Amino acid sequence: MTADLLAHFPPGAEPRPAQRRLLEALGAAIEEEHAAEGPRIFTVEAPPGVGKSHLALTLARWSGDAYLLTSQKLLQDQYEREFGDAVQLVKGRENYVCERYPVSARVTTTHGLCRRRGAPMCQCPYARAKQAALNGPIFCTNTAYFLTLRQWQHEHLRPRHVLVVDEAHNLEAQLVRVFTVAFAPDQMREWFGGPLPRFGGADDYRMLFEDHVSRLRMELTLIDDRLASLRPPGLIDDDYFLAYPLSASEQALLGQRDLLESALTRLQFFLDAEHTEWVVRYPSEIDATLELVPLTVSAMAPALLWDAAELVVLSTAFMGRPEAIAGYFGLEPAAVRAFTSESPFSVEQRLIKYQPVGTLSKATLSELEPDLFDAVAAILSAHPTEKGLIHAASYAAARRLLADLAARGPALYHRVLFVESSEAKGRALEQHRTASAPTVLLSPSLREGVDLPDDFLRFQIITKVPYPDLGDPWTAARQERDPRWYALETAKALVQTYGRSCRHAHDHGVTYVLDAQFARFLQRYRPLLPAWFREAAEPAVRAAKARRS
Ligand code: SF4
Repeated sequence: MTADLLAHFPPGAEPRPAQRRLLEALGAAIEEEHAAEGPRIFTVEAPPGVGKSHLALTLARWSGDAYLLTSQKLLQDQYEREFGDAVQLVKGRENYVCERYPVSARVTTTHGLCRRRGAPMCQCPYARAKQAALNGPIFCTNTAYFLTLRQWQHEHLRPRHVLVVDEAHNLEAQLVRVFTVAFAPDQMREWFGGPLPRFGGADDYRMLFEDHVSRLRMELTLIDDRLASLRPPGLIDDDYFLAYPLSASEQALLGQRDLLESALTRLQFFLDAEHTEWVVRYPSEIDATLELVPLTVSAMAPALLWDAAELVVLSTAFMGRPEAIAGYFGLEPAAVRAFTSESPFSVEQRLIKYQPVGTLSKATLSELEPDLFDAVAAILSAHPTEKGLIHAASYAAARRLLADLAARGPALYHRVLFVESSEAKGRALEQHRTASAPTVLLSPSLREGVDLPDDFLRFQIITKVPYPDLGDPWTAARQERDPRWYALETAKALVQTYGRSCRHAHDHGVTYVLDAQFARFLQRYRPLLPAWFREAAEPAVRAAKARRS
């Protein structure tokens, strides 16, 4: 028997052929394995254009009892726009405004009046959204918030029938972030009297922090006492209580309290998790943040994710073989089953042009950058009236390219919108979309989560194969433990970047690749890469070889 998933396809939409095939295969597998013991994990790998959000919603609607997680709040908004009442959406409390303050004050529920000790609760937009999600058939939120609720806020999120994780290629990194202990420079000054020492290993920090934990707990109690002393006297009546605004001192103390409590919770987890391997990330700059990062999350994933539902569906464009996923997330390989789809777009709509300037690495960079910049300038000139996107290797590399383009004259330079930080992304994208000029975005952080269909992106340039930075101690440790993990992360980044070029059936966009590492990577890790990527990449490499010979 087959679970009839198609009957639950979102109303008003017609399933595309690729969606139909995937839903039929998933429906058959659901029934086949219905009696299986332990967690059941399905991975659904489908390239851009297949319509993964419709697949996710179909599964959630079929189950009638689902968690539906997106990787970013932007995608969560997309679910809200596209599916409206079908999902019960909730975000972190900082996204809602406390209704006890005038709207113009824009005080979020993080600093709502009920945060005062002993305060009565009322029903604000946050409380209402959360309750609706808890009671509703499809609890839709972003993955980070869901993991925080489960791990740190001890919310009772009862097991559901289905858990769907969208954009799941980032799941390991998101889990790692949940457990990372971080002390920013101002927190070190506040809680430890100055920068923490630089030790080589996590065990040294364990000894150091064991001495500090009880003192920090006392600090938390002192903040609570100060908050109690600032509480206006005589607030007996609930309505009066909730009409009495928090003073600036109370707000500041509440902020400190939240930060310290959150740091202590993670610190205690670190101290208790002696059998987990931890990596120290503490850059050499003076004002650096100290982070203690778990090397893997295979021990933590089961309680956080696999126990949340009978069936877990991890959906994305590409995330790797089932046995690799099982290894990273503490699963038996037999528990993971993969479903894949080809691209619905012809290769002509999503061409790759491989124009190598040389093998880019730290050692060759200064020698090759002039050629790289020439190649970028030539591509910009070849697309004088079209909008595009340049993927830089880093912010520093992007700045060097920008300076080079500026030196070539205003025509090229004025087209470029440099996205100087991940916070600046939203503004730059808006500027790009609204500008009538053929603007070109330049950034190392637009490889994923960016939808630039049609004339918003007719060409993009991958200046360097996106190998994760081995200068980061966590990445280096993870690579040393498992070189194939490193290759898979590179493949995922490459595939995500390529996925920006063509977004729907009538779209088209060309991807230029300028780093000679591309051909080597393709040859060496061919079995890792999805077929729909190879069918554009391999002809591009062959064409480049033919041009050279
Ligand atoms: S006081 Fe009421 S409206 Fe304000 S955050 Fe608390 S529950 Fe929400």
